Amino acid sequence: MHDIVDLRSDTLTLPTPEMREAMARADVGDDVWGEDPTVQRLEAMAAQRLGKPAGLFVTSGTQGNLISVVTHTRPGQEVVVDFDSHVFNNEVAGAPIIGQVQMRPTKTARGFLSPEQVREAIRPANIHVPTTGLVCIENTHNRHGGTCCTPEEIAAVAAVAHEARVPVHLDGARLFNAAVALKRPAADFAQHTDSVTFCVSKGLSAPVGSVICGSGEFIERARRWRKMLGGGMRQVGILAAAGIVALERMVDRLAEDHVNARRLAEGLAALPGLRVDLATVQTNIAIVGVERGAAATADLVKGCAARKVKVHAMGPTAIRCVTHKDVDAEDISRALEAFRELTSRW
Ligand SMILES: *Cc1c(COP(=O)(O)O)cnc(C)c1O
Repeated sequence: MHDIVDLRSDTLTLPTPEMREAMARADVGDDVWGEDPTVQRLEAMAAQRLGKPAGLFVTSGTQGNLISVVTHTRPGQEVVVDFDSHVFNNEVAGAPIIGQVQMRPTKTARGFLSPEQVREAIRPANIHVPTTGLVCIENTHNRHGGTCCTPEEIAAVAAVAHEARVPVHLDGARLFNAAVALKRPAADFAQHTDSVTFCVSKGLSAPVGSVICGSGEFIERARRWRKMLGGGMRQVGILAAAGIVALERMVDRLAEDHVNARRLAEGLAALPGLRVDLATVQTNIAIVGVERGAAATADLVKGCAARKVKVHAMGPTAIRCVTHKDVDAEDISRALEAFRELTSRW
């Protein structure tokens, strides 16, 4: 039980004592000079977990996606993305501004482009149109409520892209949540994609960082982009040390977060005036629709906060709840109690 039940995001997880210990003890060097053994260990470990030859530790998921986009594409190309994807909505237009690429957002049912949609979105050879430079997919899908796609679905999309000689990037900020939920090795999801990023700073609870994985040649070019973007850090093994603990100790326990999210979602779905599509609650996110409109949604967020339960207003009438290691079963009961009390007054 925690004083405050913070369901706003899994980025709010605090580093574990074991992480702080590993950070204090980490062997470090200047990583821009290629001399930080702890960063190299994390990069090798991440690459191995994802079945790729090489890895690159970056400052954030946003930087990882940006570097991946600019490394795969040339200015003037187009990137095929889901309409609700993080790379399109939440990365401050980094790819268009820095990479000089155009985004091609496509509406999807669950956040995942189908092979047919990818086939339709890839541009033909025609003097009037941009060339397609990249297909970007997201797993788990944040704005669709932590939904997972399977390795087979990714393979089918990648086959269409690769047939047109277009590379595929996987934004796997929460890829390990998908792996745990579907009981599949993380590498299965990355097998058919040319690159993948995942965050150690979300449910895996490290304080900072993400890792990009891909071919040796891709990662070498990505490393130059990271330097240009100011992501060349020095004795950053201090941070990578926590990432190693995240990969070694924090993956399997994500299953607890999924159980908690499920119980929370089922409890909320049973309350009057709240709508939860339980089919989308597959990992650690529950998105709650508020039928009474925007003012009621704002009141609900405020009322919860007054009861020491923090939730995130995701849209005018939607609230996002994210479970993580700093939310336990008792906290879920307290959150449900807060929502029950507030909705009972409607
Ligand atoms: C959080 C997130 C990111 C970005 O990660 P940051 O470390 O916050 O920059 C990218 N993609 C998805 C799907 C995310 O949820």
